[in-house]
Amino acid sequence: MTAKILEGKVFATQIKEEVKCDVESLKAEYGVTPGLAVIIVGENPASKVYVANKHRSCGEVGIYSAVIEMPEDTTKEQLLKKIDELNKDEKIHGILVQLPLPAHISADEAEILDFIHPDKDVDGFHPINVGKLSVGQEHLVPCTPLGCIKMMELAGIEIKGKNAVVIGRSNIVGKPMFNLLLSRHATVTVCHSRTKNLAEITRLADILVVAIGKPNFVTADMVKPGAVVIDVGINRIAPKKLVGDVDFESVKEVAGAITPVPGGVGLLTIAMLMHNTVKAARIQFNR
Ligand code: NDP
Repeated sequence: MTAKILEGKVFATQIKEEVKCDVESLKAEYGVTPGLAVIIVGENPASKVYVANKHRSCGEVGIYSAVIEMPEDTTKEQLLKKIDELNKDEKIHGILVQLPLPAHISADEAEILDFIHPDKDVDGFHPINVGKLSVGQEHLVPCTPLGCIKMMELAGIEIKGKNAVVIGRSNIVGKPMFNLLLSRHATVTVCHSRTKNLAEITRLADILVVAIGKPNFVTADMVKPGAVVIDVGINRIAPKKLVGDVDFESVKEVAGAITPVPGGVGLLTIAMLMHNTVKAARIQFNR
């Protein structure tokens, strides 16, 4: 039996529709449009594409979007000053610094991201938001793992009581994924590069989330028949060819449901950024 394909576009469209309605009701309730500021430092071409996509998505759902382009040689102090202005700006409810930062300030990344006010931290990377997630008080949660959860919820996939295995323990995906699954009552195992007998563990998973950055790493023999397989990986293996961390062709013959790459989880990340911006606006209005 071939797996059900979880198409990111279907879910992303649904989430954006929800956000659009939420933006309308916020306007009606408070007379204010939610606003997102994206800061991009330097000329990284991939970052420019990501920022343009975020700007376009804001337009689609009615969020005010400010793209702040800063030159390659921007200092840490100049960037902190800009964040400080945006923290105080009442038109802006969400702030995002596009990564990676240029080499001369990349070592200051944590200090720079931590300078964003936790209520405007739509990436969910601030230690306050990380801490809140880990004690079960979800505030602003990283967009990619939140998108994975939202996709499962919309697809009617039950999480409670399931054995979930997450491969990858990054702060952006693996760790928040662990907390989100745990707080939804899954029994969660997190694996990483030092995990021994990985396949023995992954074969126990009813829900397998893979975020490692290794093309086609998870093969059919690592997957329990009927499992839900969520592939977060994005790997460019040729100029115009993207693949995930899961060997889609073989695994789809074993899994019960699977996300494709491209066209899977990646499309939900921006939709969840829109969701987080509206949530941030609501948090600020309620203060
Ligand atoms: P990181 O490089 O930060 O983390 C990778 C994780 O995978 C680490 O915890 C590492 O273990 C683990 N790992 C590496 N090799 C193995 C292995 N052989 N066996 C088991 N675990 C292993 O990556 P990210 O979490 O940032 O991203 C992961 C993937 O997801 C990438 O392909 C990235 O492009 C993609 N991504 C996609 C997004 C989207 O919007 N769809 C958003 C963010 C990321 P250890 O900690 O021991 O080193």
